[in-house]
Amino acid sequence: MAQSINIKFPNGISADIPTGLFINNEFVKSSDGKTFPVFNPSTEEQICEVYEANEADVDAAVDAAEAAFEDWGFGDSSRRGRLLTKLSDLIEEHAETLASIESLNNGKPMSLARIDVQLSADCIRSYAGWADKLYGDVLPAGDDNYFSYVRREPIGVCGQVIPWNFPLLMWAWKVGPALAAGNTVVLKSAESTPLSALYASTLVKEAGIPAGVLNIVSGYGQTGQYITSHMRIKKIAFTGSTATGRHVMKAAAASNLKKVTLELGGKSPNIVFADADLDKAVEFANMGIYFNSGEVCCAGSRIYVQDSIYDTFLEKLKARAEKNVVGDPFDDNTFQGPQTSKIQLDRILSYIEHGKNEGARVITGGKRLDRKGYFIHPTIFADVTEDMKIVKEEIFGPVVTITKFSTTDEVIKLANNTEYGLAAGIHTTNINKALHVSAKIHAGTVWVNTYNDFHHNVPFGGYGQSGIGRELGREGILESYTQPKSVRVKLDLAA
Ligand code: NAD
Ligand code: MN
Repeated sequence: MAQSINIKFPNGISADIPTGLFINNEFVKSSDGKTFPVFNPSTEEQICEVYEANEADVDAAVDAAEAAFEDWGFGDSSRRGRLLTKLSDLIEEHAETLASIESLNNGKPMSLARIDVQLSADCIRSYAGWADKLYGDVLPAGDDNYFSYVRREPIGVCGQVIPWNFPLLMWAWKVGPALAAGNTVVLKSAESTPLSALYASTLVKEAGIPAGVLNIVSGYGQTGQYITSHMRIKKIAFTGSTATGRHVMKAAAASNLKKVTLELGGKSPNIVFADADLDKAVEFANMGIYFNSGEVCCAGSRIYVQDSIYDTFLEKLKARAEKNVVGDPFDDNTFQGPQTSKIQLDRILSYIEHGKNEGARVITGGKRLDRKGYFIHPTIFADVTEDMKIVKEEIFGPVVTITKFSTTDEVIKLANNTEYGLAAGIHTTNINKALHVSAKIHAGTVWVNTYNDFHHNVPFGGYGQSGIGRELGREGILESYTQPKSVRVKLDLAA
């Protein structure tokens, strides 16, 4: 099999995309020659095959990352910043190609893919700025005969495993802070969406980032397990399902107690109070669930609406959802593309069946589009109860439930009635109410009068079973990718 493939995208762009594993700045075949297929979710057709990393390949990637660590992690930190800035510039230069890859492979509309690419460049560039500013502390700890300080040191070789809903953006959230802090990396992309990370690897090389600093392996969960259980990987950062997160933590514990950060699932409440600006709340409710085909960990999948506006809200959201154009991601009018994989399509459709069988009322949608590709109509369920599967479990698709509430205390209880705690939305024009409810909600992120609203300086992560640790912001580098070393020096100033 060739080690790169030329893809012609529906928008006329064409690009050579490597299909090998990216180890030590070279694209190589897997050592056993094994490959796996990659699909286009809009057409259900195969795009290409890529090489699948086995245990020996992961080991080779760790060797490369280990060899690169000393120089990258303890050499000139401003050089790290310069090279990562160069990488962010190259991402922008190749934005249209990267966005096309993302649209083709993940199914998201080009309009959203372009935003993902820009956010990825912004994230890498922001962390590039941290590289030479990872200050330590001098500590007042005893009399003048003590000199105590804390250094911020990189952890070593980090393993990173990412999902398929934001293939490039999750790559950037992982790679940016890890490399800026001086770690080296072995990253596994998701099996359904390996192409953007492979293309980005060509830019890593072009930026002049030294060999071994960033290694990319393609593969399924099995490849992920070689990473999570590797004895020389010092930290694992994972984004994906809560179920897999448990396996990751177990593997880390059973191997070398590598440090663990997890960004997992959610079932986030989006609360609309009667005093909200109704049309804006409808807009954010719609975007909160249907953005990125609902394949968003923090999707506002449980909408709670105050009783006096419930009927009006329902009517308006139905009308709004039905206006979302579902279709070809390369069409400028498209808001929602296909689900990313057949597995995901089937999972969502089975939740929809559950909802119907449990007696929830379908307000709109509730089925697949009558065409090729993994498309699902934006779906609203009303008349739901808290014990229903569709209210409790993460569906990860364009499916939302709507529940009526009357008092603030009641909606706080309902919102917190979940094992997750990734995010929440509050829509109200009363600032006191907004801040009161924000304080009471058990979630790592609360959005007031907005939703799915990220910034690279604002930490993101979960309460409860939505995860451990934070990405983005200061926490996302200092706590997630450096370790403090305390040095206590006993002096003898009188001598
Ligand atoms: P998953 O958690 O199984 O996969 C995510 C990543 O983990 C992929 O790269 C996968 O190859 C890898 N992986 C799988 N098993 C592994 C293991 N044992 N050890 C190490 N790595 C492993 O998610 P999925 O099966 O693709 O999707 C299932 C559900 O997960 C979705 O329906 C959704 O609810 C949730 N999900 C959440 C996010 C998020 O952003 N939090 C992203 C994707 C999926
Ligand atoms: Mn899985």
